[in-house]
Amino acid sequence: MPIKSDQIKAFVEEELEIFGGPLYMPEAQNKETVETTTVSADIHDLNEFNEAIMHCQKCALGATRTNFVFGIGNPDADLMFVGEAPGEKEDLEGVPFVGRAGKLLDDILKAIELKREDVYIANVLKCRPPNNRDPNKEEIELCEPYLLKQIELIKPKLLVALGRISATTLLRTKDSLTAMRGKVFDYHGTDMVVTYHPAALLRNPNWKRPAWEDFKTIRDMYHEKRGASQ
Ligand code: URA
Repeated sequence: MPIKSDQIKAFVEEELEIFGGPLYMPEAQNKETVETTTVSADIHDLNEFNEAIMHCQKCALGATRTNFVFGIGNPDADLMFVGEAPGEKEDLEGVPFVGRAGKLLDDILKAIELKREDVYIANVLKCRPPNNRDPNKEEIELCEPYLLKQIELIKPKLLVALGRISATTLLRTKDSLTAMRGKVFDYHGTDMVVTYHPAALLRNPNWKRPAWEDFKTIRDMYHEKRGASQ
């Protein structure tokens, strides 16, 4: 669906109101590097930011959601996970990864000796697409600045994109998950790695072993990065 000029105007006005400064506008990005884009803002706190955007109606998902799903976890987390979009349970509860996939994510975190409270978990989209369809271009372009602002406030040392949709969306690539796994990307100045979405692991238990290899790497990178800054 093409974006109309009045929608763009409304978007620009809302961005200026929320961020109070230069706009982040997604651009074509290189495959391995996504350039830093500064979003100047008067908002310096995650809760404040949640309150500022939780009534968002920038795209059509605002009309169909039950809850805006901002994110959860440690506001000072060094490790941040980014999923695709809320599912049915997340929409009902307003919290990311609370369904079966979320339970698996919690178990994986436990296996690398972390808890949900140690990390931060968010999604590319903050509202559930009807019937869990893939996010569309307009939704991504309107919602991704929220993720960028969250990253700016949390300042994680490592981002983990969960699943192909999250990764290809953020990295502006059409690469396969296989091609993206095992590489370190630069997402607006923060290191990002890519692994399987927990829901995919529920569907394909054969992927649990390679996913476990990814998570051991994630654990090692996390400790290395924390160690380096302490
Ligand atoms: N899948 C996602 O990508 N995010 C959620 O929050 C739940 C399921």
